[in-house]
Amino acid sequence: MARLNPFAIAQQQLDEAAERLGLDAATHELLRWPMREYRFTIPVRMDNGETRIFQGYRVQYNDARGPTKGGLRWHPEETIDTVRALAAWMTWKTAVVDIPLGGGKGGVTCNPKEMSDGEKERLARAYIRAVGRELGVHRDVPAPDVYTTPQIMAWMMDEYEKLVGHSHPGMITGKPLPVGGSQGRGDATARGSVYCVREAGKVLDIDLAKTTYVIQGFGNAGQFAATLHPEILGGGTLIAASDSRGGVMNKDGMDPAALVRHKLETGSVLKFPGSEPISNEDLLELECDVLYPSALEGVITAKNAGDIKAKISCELANGPTTPEADKILFEKGVYVIPDFLANAGGVTVSYFEQVQNTYNYYWTLQDVYQQLDRKMTEAFGAVHEMSKRARAHNRLVAYMVAVTRVAEACKIRGWV
Ligand code: GLU
Repeated sequence: MARLNPFAIAQQQLDEAAERLGLDAATHELLRWPMREYRFTIPVRMDNGETRIFQGYRVQYNDARGPTKGGLRWHPEETIDTVRALAAWMTWKTAVVDIPLGGGKGGVTCNPKEMSDGEKERLARAYIRAVGRELGVHRDVPAPDVYTTPQIMAWMMDEYEKLVGHSHPGMITGKPLPVGGSQGRGDATARGSVYCVREAGKVLDIDLAKTTYVIQGFGNAGQFAATLHPEILGGGTLIAASDSRGGVMNKDGMDPAALVRHKLETGSVLKFPGSEPISNEDLLELECDVLYPSALEGVITAKNAGDIKAKISCELANGPTTPEADKILFEKGVYVIPDFLANAGGVTVSYFEQVQNTYNYYWTLQDVYQQLDRKMTEAFGAVHEMSKRARAHNRLVAYMVAVTRVAEACKIRGWV
């Protein structure tokens, strides 16, 4: 099978929304492309004395609603098209939760699993020396994403502050607490998604305390979703979870906190006591109430969408479902909470972090939860309202909400 080009998918999704909205041709064309993009080489001295040249990217997709915002991925298969797609999705994400930011994304093609801490630090600092002049609280603000961490954000902030010669913590978010991070940023993506599931449960009239759930991708967001699902919804049974090495299941339920500990101790969910093994493919097709696709893009396709049996698919990952699969899931009646709504909690608390950095006064955990809940509930409500008028799958409906907001900002600025 040809490898899916995520940017072609992002453009196709926009095209459909533009058509439904009757968007004028100039606005449509403007929104199909990144406004600016940077590609650069990053030489890094490795521990063995050799110098390796990494490929780096930063895409500033659209800043009509505010400075561009979005994470940095360090992944062996990172390409400019992946970064473009993710930058486009950030644009719709910040718009759907109605925060005054645009969309951006960055990345480095590398395999952090094979790098020492020293090598990661040198790569982080070199990335900032290469592109730091294009970043800043009023321009473009990175954050963690696949395989990047709060520690990496701290090194980047430090390098940036050395370049500009003054304190500037708001240039990057997802930082550790002692250097200007926000309470509640760590689990914000997962927390926001569970708030969405809670709202979906009201609409679909599902007793959420009795739900079974499955986590595909037991990374940072997936692990938090595993424990937050029962905590926020008042119950629920985790019946399966997987990571890049494979999956485990137990129809009678697994203790999410114990599974997180097992993953942290052994590096994988495999061989969790009391579970049986299951492949990533089979896991997606399990009978359950809520499926959380939480790994990478392109896992629910035309090939397997017909076999998905979950009532709700809450997309913690970016881009897990292809456009063909969206149609199949819609016809089957699977209620999809699309990625850029479901996982918007991360960037929402990143925005809170920037706000706190700017006025140098920090909120309590309760403040963050409360504001996050309000933002996610409003965003879910806006998409649900639109869905009553437009008979279409939820992703298209969410696009219609987001694109309308970005297009309006472009028009008011006089760009189109
Ligand atoms: N990388 C996260 C995302 O895809 C967070 C971005 C941010 O906090 O800026 O939404």
